[in-house]
Amino acid sequence: MTRKIYSILFLSILFTIILCSCENSSKDQETNKPNIIVVFCDDMGYGDLSCFGHPTIKTPQLDRLAAEGQKWTSFYVTAPVCTPSRAGLITGRYPVRSGFMGGVLHPISKGGLPQSEITIPELLKDAGYSTACIGKWHLGHLPQFLPTNHGFDYYYGIPYSNDMDKIDAVKDNPMEANINPEIRFFNVPLMRNTEIIERPAQQTTIVKRYTEETVQYINDNKEGPFFIYLAHNMPHIPLFRSLDFENKSERGIYGDVIEEIDWSVGQIRKALEDNGIAENTLVIFTSDNGPWLRFDQQGGSAGLLRGGKGSTWEGGMREPTIFWWKGKLKTGIVSDMGSTLDFLPTFCNLADVPVPDDRHMDGFDLTKTLLYGEKSPRDIMIFSRGNDVAAIRKGDFKAHFIVRRDPELQEQLPLLYHLGHDPSEKYNIADQYPEIIDELRLEAEKFKKTVIPVVDQVRLR
Ligand code: MG
Repeated sequence: MTRKIYSILFLSILFTIILCSCENSSKDQETNKPNIIVVFCDDMGYGDLSCFGHPTIKTPQLDRLAAEGQKWTSFYVTAPVCTPSRAGLITGRYPVRSGFMGGVLHPISKGGLPQSEITIPELLKDAGYSTACIGKWHLGHLPQFLPTNHGFDYYYGIPYSNDMDKIDAVKDNPMEANINPEIRFFNVPLMRNTEIIERPAQQTTIVKRYTEETVQYINDNKEGPFFIYLAHNMPHIPLFRSLDFENKSERGIYGDVIEEIDWSVGQIRKALEDNGIAENTLVIFTSDNGPWLRFDQQGGSAGLLRGGKGSTWEGGMREPTIFWWKGKLKTGIVSDMGSTLDFLPTFCNLADVPVPDDRHMDGFDLTKTLLYGEKSPRDIMIFSRGNDVAAIRKGDFKAHFIVRRDPELQEQLPLLYHLGHDPSEKYNIADQYPEIIDELRLEAEKFKKTVIPVVDQVRLR
């Protein structure tokens, strides 16, 4: 009998110990939820950073983050223009699912990101994060679509592109206004939460002020966890930079702008270190789409990649991407595929909150690649054009089914490139691999079957 009592007593103690340790470990996880900062540029090219090979633009801060963290060389956005690319990032779904088939919202648009979508900040708020959107939103400027109605506690920024709201005097020659800009040409609003606080926004100080807002938010929320989505309006034309960066870069005004963004990244790093939270903050740097090549020297460079903004060539959608988390990441260069679609499931894992399971999600959790250098779970990327699949990459192969503005290439469709051997998409090898074309076509059809038709938000006027 006594033995039985002892056994029960022993088991109860054991059970209590296990229960306590479980509770502790889940508590540890909770207190360890990292802060997350996404720095999202506008129209910056694959080749516009020193660490991605630019010979005259100097980006020491970003180079340092890349050296201490991970540099991703095959990282994709979901569209080659601003609005749909942003929809893909914030929802973790291809933008066609939320009503963005191509094209961008304008000040006369009546559409925006539907309330039915679940956003990263909404999910992170469930996990106790404070959330700020600083910069360009471009997912609807009407009150119901603003960041503060999509999960952000705080918003400060220009709600769409910095070349919009042109005044009548320059409407006849918009190219000239973009290339030789004055602040007054672009009557864009600067907003704080839902109020317009300045119009036209003084764009020469916009990078500086977005940076100050970000640093302030870090200081105010250092107890964490917080999520900051810093979406610069630059280097989208018209190009503006503050006095400190005027005529500083060998690359001219475009270089000045990138170098000011690099400075901004340095200020963010300093704020994290000053507050002692660099070891608990994941910082990601990338851009929404490739360079706007029609602006010649005022547009960026896609480096060795073909094409730029607006195209489904690599230069339109592959972006120079850096992950940094002091002392936490497996340092190195990652040439596996990744996408802004993957932010949502990765952040959900880090914040210990479930990924929505009531809809089709398109992201993969990159945590193990980031922390342990494991192979990226992403092996496929869809390049949409309207409701159609223009191109698709699986593994090293990329097939194009739609090509714009090139009658000669259109004659040869479908095209096939091996992006490992030929990242510039120069050598069409479709004839050699008919079975790969079939496989990729099948994948494209499979994807299209998962898309439920919805209202095109960009067409709502
Ligand atoms: Mg853009």
